[in-house]
Amino acid sequence: MASRVAVIGAGPSGLAQLRAFAEAGRNGAEIPELVCFEKQSDWGGLWNYTWRTGVDAAGDPVHGSMYRHLWSNGPKECLEFADYTFDEHFGKPIPSYPPREVLYDYIIGRAKQSDIRQCIQFDTAVRWVSHDAGRNTFSVTVEALNTGETRTEEFDYVIVASGHFSSPNVPDFPGFEQFPGRILHSHDFRDSREFAGQHLLVVGSSYSAEDLALQARKYGAESVTITYRTAPMGFDWPEGITEVPLLTGVEGDTAHFADGSSRQVDAILLCTGYRHHFPFLEDGLRLRTKNILYPDNLYKGVFWVHNPKLMYLGMQDQYYTFTLFDAEAWYARDYVLGRVTLPSAEEMRRDIAGWRAREETVASSVDAVDFQAEHIQDLLADVDYPKFDLDLTREHFRTWLDHKKQTITGYRDFSGFTSPCTGTEAPEHHTPWWEALDDSAAAFLATGTRGE
Ligand SMILES: Cc1cc2nc3c(=O)[nH]c(=O)nc-3n(C[C@H](O)[C@H](O)[C@H](O)COP(=O)(O)OP(=O)(O)OC[C@H]3O[C@@H](n4cnc5c(N)ncnc54)[C@H](O)[C@@H]3O)c2cc1C
Repeated sequence: MASRVAVIGAGPSGLAQLRAFAEAGRNGAEIPELVCFEKQSDWGGLWNYTWRTGVDAAGDPVHGSMYRHLWSNGPKECLEFADYTFDEHFGKPIPSYPPREVLYDYIIGRAKQSDIRQCIQFDTAVRWVSHDAGRNTFSVTVEALNTGETRTEEFDYVIVASGHFSSPNVPDFPGFEQFPGRILHSHDFRDSREFAGQHLLVVGSSYSAEDLALQARKYGAESVTITYRTAPMGFDWPEGITEVPLLTGVEGDTAHFADGSSRQVDAILLCTGYRHHFPFLEDGLRLRTKNILYPDNLYKGVFWVHNPKLMYLGMQDQYYTFTLFDAEAWYARDYVLGRVTLPSAEEMRRDIAGWRAREETVASSVDAVDFQAEHIQDLLADVDYPKFDLDLTREHFRTWLDHKKQTITGYRDFSGFTSPCTGTEAPEHHTPWWEALDDSAAAFLATGTRGE
């Protein structure tokens, strides 16, 4: 009997997995039965934007964490699908930092090119996965959210692609209970215009804090104060954004900070990160990790070392995104197809330990990019993913980091990045990002040059 593979989630990682199998099938391989369970009504994962916060229509925590005015925070050339280029999708060169809707269109464009939608059961949440050691199979219990019916199916392989930027990490601070304004986590941030005219306090110093502080100010926040725990981000912030040491508490609407300063704020935005959260996996299958480049117990960053028939995609801290997911998905596919074999558990553990020891020496963003690029290179060495210039993407990331130091409001305006797949050079966008309030795909893709 053909083996059965369950894929949990139809976001970029799950779709990469389905695509990898579809490509093998197109090239004549016999592929297993694939069933992808997706609890949302459509594909795209976080890129499938929702206005919802709190609970979804089924009463589950909302998966989406994306906000309306999100633009890519890294050059698109560093996430290009080597088997479906930007040129192929858009038919013309486009600038390097597209808004959310444009990237969503690109992700979905590739998905539509393969006949993979029929593998996906939408509105279907995975509720429990357990392993039967005797049969060496997995029992997967799912709930059809439209009817509330549950059922259990047996699979030979399970691939977890459920993402890890959806379960917020929410700290508490003295005085929050009495704060008269809104307190929210970045998971629930949707529309930057909500904070127009307000004094906003942002807690955190990660990508979310950086970008949401900018977005809020761009769309009219009166001021944004960013409070950090260990070190400021230190960018050359535009007028109206400042960084201060850690929040010690609030009294009424006055926020107090560790350096003794204080200020009045209208709303508080917690950009305090996310937790890897897999309530649907039994204990022995459950990955427990912080958001790091090489989580423990995952050989090649993919295979559950205790039972490699369980695989995880996209569980790393992400500099690379789609490229990493593809490399992982192609490797997972080739394991299922018997094209690659895995070493003994002991050797896998040794290999993981080597990568994790190396991660300890990562001291900067440049080091982190290099580390992740080498992880990708390690995966690609064994699979038939189309060739592209990975070293060029490393250079692009370096340039991007330099640009951010030069101008945090203007780094998205740089042009000249070249595609690692086609060599196409990205044109300049017609409007500086800081002034581009219309983030629709139509506005972004409209032709024109600066000043027109
Ligand atoms: C605010 C924000 C901004 C970002 N911006 C960028 C960016 O500019 N560029 C970039 O490249 N990356 C960005 N990312 C990173 C993002 O993680 C990846 O782009 C990508 O979405 C990860 O894909 P994924 O498939 O691993 O996870 P997700 O996109 O999270 O998809 C997981 C899917 O699994 C489904 N699922 C979860 N649990 C279950 C279950 N129990 N049963 C059934 N289905 C389930 C979910 O509904 C979802 O569809 C951003 C992330 C966030 C949070």
